[in-house]
Parts: sequence; structure tokens; C-alpha cells
Amino acid sequence: MPQGLLVVLSGPSGAGKGTVCQLLRQRNSALAYSVSATTRRPRPGERDGVNYFFLTREEFLAKRAAGEFLESAEVYGNLYGTPRSYVQEKLAGGQDVLLEIDTQGAMQVKTNYPAGVFIFLLPPSLVELEARITRRGTENLGERARRLAAAQSEIAQVRSYDYVVINDKVEQAVARVEAILLAEHTRVERFSDAELKELLGGQLV
Ligand code: 5GP
Repeated sequence: MPQGLLVVLSGPSGAGKGTVCQLLRQRNSALAYSVSATTRRPRPGERDGVNYFFLTREEFLAKRAAGEFLESAEVYGNLYGTPRSYVQEKLAGGQDVLLEIDTQGAMQVKTNYPAGVFIFLLPPSLVELEARITRRGTENLGERARRLAAAQSEIAQVRSYDYVVINDKVEQAVARVEAILLAEHTRVERFSDAELKELLGGQLV
């Protein structure tokens, strides 16, 4: 069975990663979403095991030391990590896996899984980015300023990614991500000789 695609989506705070991922998952039920672990406190409405696995710093560090994370990074003073076993199981089962992670984590994944698909989501403008962070209202003033500064340095990482998607309208952004996944699934190098042979009805050129 062919391995699934490891799809990494990054972008600055306020780019709308959460909304894009949500719609992408709704429309593509076969896409496995990796729930990250974090030491950040839950926001109102967030549920353990659904949005994140909420851990204490000690719990997180113990898991990290045990090699349980595929990647991990400190973002805005909190630790975040991708559970390794979930991702490996789904990929091995032929399912595509979506990771919504920051640029530091994405670069670690790129080192270990160069065959991953790396997508960078951008807001239509920096002005709009600031407006979105403010509108969301989940962070205080200091935190918002920190996220805006971090956003600018995250945006500078765009060239390390394979694709850039502008999130002006969510439906359009999701359609672009779907187009990327379709194209990636049809790349010749992703097929083994045996799979190609089967596709070509035994007439391998
Ligand atoms: P938030 O706290 O707003 O949910 O997420 C803050 C940042 O952490 C976002 O940029 C998000 O993409 C990133 N993030 C979430 N989960 C992970 C993870 O497992 N690994 C890494 N490296 N970053 C993550």
C-alpha cells in the first residue's frame, strides 16, 4: 500500500490556519489530523484531546525525552509537539496526515520527511493580519504585539516551503490546498515501479 502524504501547514498567527484546517477536514474526511501536545493553557471552548493534548511542562518534557514527538518547538513561551506514533500509523496505513505547526517544527519535519508537502498560508496583507489577531480577542495587548512581531519573522521563512497559499477567502484557500494535494498524489516519483506497472496495465515503458 502506498504511504500517505505528510502535509505540513504553517503560517503566521492570524493567517487563518485553524479555519482553513477545519474546512479542509470537513471536506476531506479521509485526511487524518494530528492533534498536537502543548503546555499552553486551554482557551475557552478548547477540549483536551480534540484541539490539543494539554500537558504540564514536566509531562511534555518527559514525553519529549522519551522520543514521543516527531518535532517540537517553543512558540510564544509554550511548548508544542507532534505525537510521532499517530503520524507514523496513519501514513503507513495509506492515509494523508495534516500537521498544523509553526515554522521551527516544519523545518524539523522537513529534515526527517523530505517527501512531505510543505504549505505556507499567508493573510492577504499585514494590515489584515493585525485586524484578525485583534478581532479574535483571545490574547491581551502584549501578547498580540508579540504575535505580530513573530508573524513578521515567520513570513520571512516562506521560501523554505513548497507552496504558498493566500487566505483571502477560506473556500478559495481550501480549494487551492486541495489542488496541491491532488497534484502531489499524481507525481510520478510517488509511485513505486510495481504501482506504475499496475496503473499502466502491465505495459511499463
Ligand atoms: P496556538 O497556541 O495559537 O494554538 O498555536 C500557536 C502556534 O503553535 C501556531 O503557529 C501553531 O501552528 C503552532 N503549533 C501548534 N501545534 C504545534 C506543534 O505540534 N508543533 C509546532 N512546532 N508548532 C505547533
